[in-house]
Amino acid sequence: MPIATVNPATGETLKTFDPLGPEEIERRLARAASAFGQYRTTGFDRRAELLNRAADLLDEDQRDIARIMTTEMGKPITAARAEAAKCAKAMRWYAENARELLADEHPSAADVTDSGASRAIVRYRPLGVVLAVMPWNFPLWQVVRFAAPALMAGNVGLLKHASNVPQTALYLEDLFRRAGFPEGCFQTLLIGSGAVEDILRDSRVAAATLTGSEPAGRSVAAVAGDEVKRTVLELGGSDPFVVMPSADIERAARTAVTARVQNNGQSCIAAKRFIVHTDVYDAFCERFTAGMRELTVGDPSQETTDVGPLASEQGRTDLEELVDDALRLGATARCGGQRPEQHDKGWFYEPTVLTGVTPSMRIHREEAFGPVATVYRVSGLDEAVTLANDSPFGLSSNVWTRDDGEVERFVRDLEAGGVFVNGMTASHPALPFGGVKRSGYGRELSGHGIREFCNVTTVWHA
Ligand code: NDP
Repeated sequence: MPIATVNPATGETLKTFDPLGPEEIERRLARAASAFGQYRTTGFDRRAELLNRAADLLDEDQRDIARIMTTEMGKPITAARAEAAKCAKAMRWYAENARELLADEHPSAADVTDSGASRAIVRYRPLGVVLAVMPWNFPLWQVVRFAAPALMAGNVGLLKHASNVPQTALYLEDLFRRAGFPEGCFQTLLIGSGAVEDILRDSRVAAATLTGSEPAGRSVAAVAGDEVKRTVLELGGSDPFVVMPSADIERAARTAVTARVQNNGQSCIAAKRFIVHTDVYDAFCERFTAGMRELTVGDPSQETTDVGPLASEQGRTDLEELVDDALRLGATARCGGQRPEQHDKGWFYEPTVLTGVTPSMRIHREEAFGPVATVYRVSGLDEAVTLANDSPFGLSSNVWTRDDGEVERFVRDLEAGGVFVNGMTASHPALPFGGVKRSGYGRELSGHGIREFCNVTTVWHA
């Protein structure tokens, strides 16, 4: 894939970039290793000062970087600005909380004595150079979600961003440099995915984190496994959104629209499979379909646009194939199911609601990465749980009910890294984020996220 900015709203190539050659990659690896040697000894106060400065600069740059993101991958401009604001917030959160999250742990006096020690503590030390392989869908947030905790823990970062967001990738390197982070603490590598293996095998790289597709995750984890290096994987999702009879149907349907089409439908934590109790199925379906139909699809740089284009032509083709397969096998498109007629340029797709989906259809098991929802009818709690879990993925889940017993059942039985009750899944710096099954492993954000790339060190005194 060429490294280029191609506007998905028009299909026009705006800028291309040459990938780094082996000598430049070597220079940057050396710089990262040398930076870590120094940076690891800095204190939390200094790191927080730098990260807070990065947050301030990002706030100042918000409009400009939002425009770049929208141009590179097509998210509505209002969402792009919100993403930049969220990144600044996460930076400040880690700047404020890292010291406490990584504070020494003190086992009980009895346990210390039992271990034969006079004193023992657990200390979180940084791991080293961490390679981040990141996707285009939240081109700032995915990176900051890794970088803010990594830098606060004393690690340094190497970013291999998706090939279609090079300007956002370069912006991030520049942001951390302007904030005052020492040279080499955060570097962007403009490289294709084929160059990742050698970098990951390099002894100066300690670990890797990847957000993206399952094949990409499998490939990076295989190399890291071979090198015995730690990884965190945040892969796809096909989150269930379960609606039970006691739910507020009006609010559930309204939230369902946002949960499905956020980021033009290209979010790993978007609700994708809507599992609705038969008692409220018709009422929900009618409202949900009406909401999807009313969305404004169009130029993502316009303030009033709800849904922009898909990020790539391939992405739209993949989505079309999933929908066409379902329609061919007997599903019904309550709305959408095709490209919008009014947009002959760009990679737009109509918000789509499919009913009558069966397990023989690809969309039943595969992730629909675009504004396409599947709605299922179930007759009770057991069936809802079974269907929700009938997916290779297990990222998050949404359940709508006012029955506490049902909530407990969902929390006990849903195979997912999150259960969001009467709301949609969203990430927050203080809450762990990640999945089970084919959605990956490890956690980002919160104390769990910052400790993923730490050397958990036992310090024992005789
Ligand atoms: P990819 O997984 O291909 O891309 C994500 C990142 O991984 C990019 O930086 C990419 O680089 C890199 N990459 C891809 N293959 C390899 C590899 N073998 N070794 C090392 N790095 C690799 O995502 P796509 O953009 O192709 O999207 C395809 C599907 O992935 C989507 O339809 C969706 O299902 C899923 N996805 C999930 C995301 C999430 O948030 N969980 C985000 C994006 C995609 P390069 O761009 O140079 O290929």
